[in-house]
Amino acid sequence: MEYKHFSHQHNLSIYQVQPGQQLRCSGCDKFCDKTIYACWQCKFFLHEHCGNATRYIKHPFHSSHYLILSPYPTYPSNCFLCNACGTNGSRFSYCCALCEVDLHVNCAFLPPKVTHKAHPHELVLNHSSQTGGHNQVCKMCRKLLDSNHWSYECLLCANYGVHTLCATNEIKMGLYQMDDGSDTEPSYQAAPMTQPAASTAQPGTSGGQVELTPVEALAILMGLSNAASYV
Ligand SMILES: [Zn+2]
Ligand SMILES: [Zn+2]
Ligand SMILES: [Zn+2]
Ligand SMILES: [Zn+2]
Ligand SMILES: [Zn+2]
Ligand SMILES: [Zn+2]
Repeated sequence: MEYKHFSHQHNLSIYQVQPGQQLRCSGCDKFCDKTIYACWQCKFFLHEHCGNATRYIKHPFHSSHYLILSPYPTYPSNCFLCNACGTNGSRFSYCCALCEVDLHVNCAFLPPKVTHKAHPHELVLNHSSQTGGHNQVCKMCRKLLDSNHWSYECLLCANYGVHTLCATNEIKMGLYQMDDGSDTEPSYQAAPMTQPAASTAQPGTSGGQVELTPVEALAILMGLSNAASYV
């Protein structure tokens, strides 16, 4: 059985990674495990969840535009800064080229809630950059929690915030989504709890801005990436 992925010219086959085998995913740059898509002649590998990521999503973090899955950064620097975790990426990203929003695939599909052995309560993903005081530190790694990026917060304990990467270091990355009963819709629905309390905007409402169709957004993205390749 062979598969075609839009980011690669050759067909891909399914492969089971053996223990100790170190194959890096071309989608997220992390080591592969379990089932992957592989092109052996190019040493091109994709986690199952990276290979299955949909071409575009509607994400509550940036609900005014579709985020388009781009196989490589559209910036001349060949890397992007992820709005969610604040680290660089050089592989797949979900991006809005109009607004320069970029998310790692793993960050775009972070679980809405996690539990971690370092804390007794459930932690809830917070996309909002307004909450949390200045100079707050991550309660797990004790490093600064940048209020421009996402965090997981405990709703029961005051000021308990942690980095997304710290909160999820024990779980397997995948295409986490709220189970809303419809898996046919290629969209990301957040739990109501993760919505910023001050905002009444629902995902899908554009607040007066012009709504781009995914095809239009893709055209803009491709236009920009073509322009970038000439510099
Ligand atoms: Zn991957
Ligand atoms: Zn290939
Ligand atoms: Zn990220
Ligand atoms: Zn946008
Ligand atoms: Zn941390
Ligand atoms: Zn707590």
